[in-house]
Amino acid sequence: MRATIMAVEAVLFLVSVIYTMLSFGKTEKIARRLGGAFLFCALLQLDYIILLSTEAFAIKEYMACLQYVFMDWTVLLLFFYCMGYVKISLKKSYMIIAISIVTVDCLIFLTNPLNNLAVQMKPYEYSDIQTVAEKVRPLFLIHPIICYSLNIIMIITLIMKCAKTQRLYRGKYIVVVAIVFSTMIGFLFDVPELVRTVILSCFMTTFELVAIYVVSYNIPKKNLANRLHAYVADNISDATILYDNEGQLINLNHRASDLFEKDICETSDKLLTYLGFPESDGVYKKKIRDGIYNISCNSLRDENGNVLGKTFIFYDITEVEAQIEREHTIAITDSLTGAYNRLGFLEASNEFLYHNESESGFAMIVSGIQNFKGLNAAYGTRAGDMVLKYIERRFYDYHLSYSMVYGRTAEGKYAVLAPFEAVEDITSGMTCIDVPVDEDLNIHVDMCHGYIVLDDIGKPLDYYYERALLALSDCKRTLSLTSLEYSYEMEERVQKRQFLVTQMHEALREKQFFIELQPQINLDTREVSGAEALVRWKHPKLGRISPAEFIPLFEENGFIVDLDVYVWEKAAMTVKELSDKGIYDGSISINISQIDIMNTDVAAALDRIVKKVGIPPSKLHVEITESACVDRRETLIKTLNSLREKGFIIEIDDFGSGYSSLNVLMSLPFDVVKLDMGFTRDNSLEGRSGIVITTIAKMIHDLDAIILVEGVETEKHVENTVAFGGDIVQGYYFSRPLQIEQFCEFVQKKK
Ligand code: C2E
Ligand code: CA
Ligand code: CA
Repeated sequence: MRATIMAVEAVLFLVSVIYTMLSFGKTEKIARRLGGAFLFCALLQLDYIILLSTEAFAIKEYMACLQYVFMDWTVLLLFFYCMGYVKISLKKSYMIIAISIVTVDCLIFLTNPLNNLAVQMKPYEYSDIQTVAEKVRPLFLIHPIICYSLNIIMIITLIMKCAKTQRLYRGKYIVVVAIVFSTMIGFLFDVPELVRTVILSCFMTTFELVAIYVVSYNIPKKNLANRLHAYVADNISDATILYDNEGQLINLNHRASDLFEKDICETSDKLLTYLGFPESDGVYKKKIRDGIYNISCNSLRDENGNVLGKTFIFYDITEVEAQIEREHTIAITDSLTGAYNRLGFLEASNEFLYHNESESGFAMIVSGIQNFKGLNAAYGTRAGDMVLKYIERRFYDYHLSYSMVYGRTAEGKYAVLAPFEAVEDITSGMTCIDVPVDEDLNIHVDMCHGYIVLDDIGKPLDYYYERALLALSDCKRTLSLTSLEYSYEMEERVQKRQFLVTQMHEALREKQFFIELQPQINLDTREVSGAEALVRWKHPKLGRISPAEFIPLFEENGFIVDLDVYVWEKAAMTVKELSDKGIYDGSISINISQIDIMNTDVAAALDRIVKKVGIPPSKLHVEITESACVDRRETLIKTLNSLREKGFIIEIDDFGSGYSSLNVLMSLPFDVVKLDMGFTRDNSLEGRSGIVITTIAKMIHDLDAIILVEGVETEKHVENTVAFGGDIVQGYYFSRPLQIEQFCEFVQKKK
């Protein structure tokens, strides 16, 4: 019996020592407190081992007294521990009182072998164990009073706390009350049976502290965490479904139960079948009911790779998808007409080709409004917008009769992808359009079309679009055609354009550009009163290149600015030279592109040139087309005003081509109006058009400006010009643009 008890005590002692050592390495407060408790357990056990192993009564007696000392401190420790546990801070004074009383009690027991103040020890044999028995003295009472009162305070505090706290936490206090109460029961055995006391109190104290730790620290936290997790799971917008290792449903949150019928998610296999997903983990996108979900299926595995459970999380991406869809719609839609824009058209065409077939094959048409800029300038952008919308509706009508895709792909351009058999119908039907913009105003719009047959569906649609566009720009140039099919020569021209770009800088350096002068004849004197300087390019390999070919190109890439300054200088120098030689004393007109106006200070540049060359500014006439700078009207007016202030003469070029605007006459400062050849050639002077032309001519004269008619090719044109009061003429009838020497001869002849 004795050996057994000693073995048990030794084991408990070792456990307590090891635990103490381990726990003091830990950083958590709770672990260190437990360590303290175990230290006392260890000492208690050591004490008892000594008590049992020795034969000397004096030592036995002393060890028995020490038991009380340890008991006191253990209870006090337990008390403090519980105080921390219920989060009650004790006043410092109370603490000092408590420790003092305990210390006094301890002193009584420590000195007891000398004075027997608390107990009178006698040898006592229990079973085969030699121990001691006590006869209690009055001072002994301090000891149970301390222990019991501390325990009672603890119990009361815990019960109060228990009453106040929420149900979830109540459990932990009840458990602690039970434990503390059981300690008291332990003390009740204290007096008669020392062995039992010792064993009980050792086990009890150890057990109590461990139990309190588990109950207070772990269980409520875990419960709470579970409850909180469940709460979070139920309140997030994503649905979650959890299965165990055998695929049986463990839990589904509110969102999930809204989303699925109960029997669909009974097992993970059923759910996978319903969703049509494979067994493997992954993220899949799927539409369920009215929503779109990113579904993440994941298996939770242990270290050995065995499946512990399976989770399904349904991230609701309906809103995100809708937003993306909205943004995409905006990105592919032309905000003015609501039709596709270029991006949308190409995208929809791809889709269309994927789903449609046509025996005649497909063609892509790009349709452009002739001189849309001029139309805007003449009638205003609001009317321009109405034209664009009206034309869109016309395409929409075709879309009802043919299976096709269309969109507005650039400012005045539309693109159509249609079966080839529809091309003729669409292009001829969309050529001359009268757009009603007001009750009494119809705007007449001409359209041109370029198209290409899709010979290889594998090619990107961009390829066809670019080529149809090419055909369109060619078609626009031929005044006679309204639609043109793409041909390989166009491509060659594109390559040629690209080649010209590579050559232009060198051409300017090598002086491949020069000017020709086209005489302007004064109808009164029949003498040369002026000349227009027109640039020419003589390329060493390509020969003469037409300005119609390179001017638009240089306007696109900005090189026109450099070229024009060169031409202006040449023109100024020619004025100077011919006048110095006494051959010609008139003016020379130069052309100004809108790119010049927007990118440089034209007035300053010309001023510098005339000063450098030494001619009066009035000898340079500046030609500007009426549609230039439609969107930057103020810049244009500023430039023209400052040119005029400096003494240059302003000519409005190409007036009457496209959409003439009386606005131009009202808002721009000018000295000469150049009526376009088309304006006089196509309209006879009889009837309505005659009235219009003569009225405009009168108006120009009333504004103190001179009328110059260009493109005069026949005797008849000259007669007409005289009839409506034109002052000056320019055109092939009198002369083509001439090299400078020929021009000099021409002037001499006319004198
Ligand atoms: P534009 O300013 O309208 O020049 C008149 C054009 O009409 C010239 O073509 C001229 O050769 C042509 N022309 C003259 N009389 C007749 C005629 O009786 N019948 C016909 N059918 N045409 C006639 P060109 O030289 O090919 O110039 C084309 C355009 O290139 C010019 O049109 C002008 O806008 C531009 N351009 C020419 N030189 C320059 C320049 O130095 N700078 C800038 N920015 N543009 C220029
Ligand atoms: Ca001109
Ligand atoms: Ca002109």
